[in-house]
Amino acid sequence: MRTLPPPARQQLEDSFAFTTVTPQVKRVADHGQTVKYLFRLGDAKTIETVVMHYDATTRSRARTTICVSSQVGCPIGCTFCATGKSGFDRNLTEAEIVDQFLAASRDLGDKQRSLTNVVFMGMGEPLNNYAAVVGAIRRWAREDTLNFSPRRVTVSTIGLVPFIERLSAEGLPVNLAVSLHAPDDELRSSMIPVNRKYPIAAIVAAARAHAERTGRRTSYEYVLLQGINDSMEQARRLTTVIGHRLTHVNLIPMNPIDGSPLSPPSKARAQAFQSVLQGAGISTTIRATRGLDIDAACGQLRARQLEPAATSPA
Ligand code: SF4
Repeated sequence: MRTLPPPARQQLEDSFAFTTVTPQVKRVADHGQTVKYLFRLGDAKTIETVVMHYDATTRSRARTTICVSSQVGCPIGCTFCATGKSGFDRNLTEAEIVDQFLAASRDLGDKQRSLTNVVFMGMGEPLNNYAAVVGAIRRWAREDTLNFSPRRVTVSTIGLVPFIERLSAEGLPVNLAVSLHAPDDELRSSMIPVNRKYPIAAIVAAARAHAERTGRRTSYEYVLLQGINDSMEQARRLTTVIGHRLTHVNLIPMNPIDGSPLSPPSKARAQAFQSVLQGAGISTTIRATRGLDIDAACGQLRARQLEPAATSPA
């Protein structure tokens, strides 16, 4: 509001909060293509948000994706995930989710590309904070705010079936990403405790219903862990469990976590796993690792907390 005199502007600034997230640290990797932010919240807790730029290819346009957090920490406790290991603090408010987008947009400035996609794959299980997540998606979508289409939003879940069903009934054409990571319940329950409550068949049925209702295909995320879930027999079992209609699989070779005995398979083995899925008619990609050197890859947020004093301020 540059038309106001400076003292009035100062008074406004001192009296009102214009954002609920304050940039504390910003780190850049992949030659400027990946940017990771540590934001401080009103109660001094911190969250992490990642922005990834992708250049245009022959098959897709250039895009800039923001990976937002929905909780401080995560209560689900997956064995292979750094965020889960750090425990759970609290849900984010709708404003704190909305403001991650605004703060990152502001930092991108006018000269750079604007945000084109949102993925809820930062800290937390988004469907565990259902009202705030759906509220934020609706707020971004409003014509008098950002007019940002829900079609460009992906909600990633570990498979909280009742909330997938509720999301399907919202009339929001958001994309659903299901973190599956195993083709059978015994193995999945050992990696993801909540699988005992919501087994694979129930999750796939709910995801299928969402895909049919919205016309948006379901992405199944599958972290490849050497010697645990990466055999060709497991790949075959996966094809029968998820089917090929409105289905895509993202294979994610595990990102190393300090002190963890788990490791990713070789590139050749990951490709062989992919071939089995493709042979069954399932669209499958192996996710390119981004931001590894700043711990911004999936399951690494909070692996090593960014220390404000140690790195450059945003
Ligand atoms: S993988 Fe997702 S759901 Fe599991 S602990 Fe990590 S953040 Fe939570």
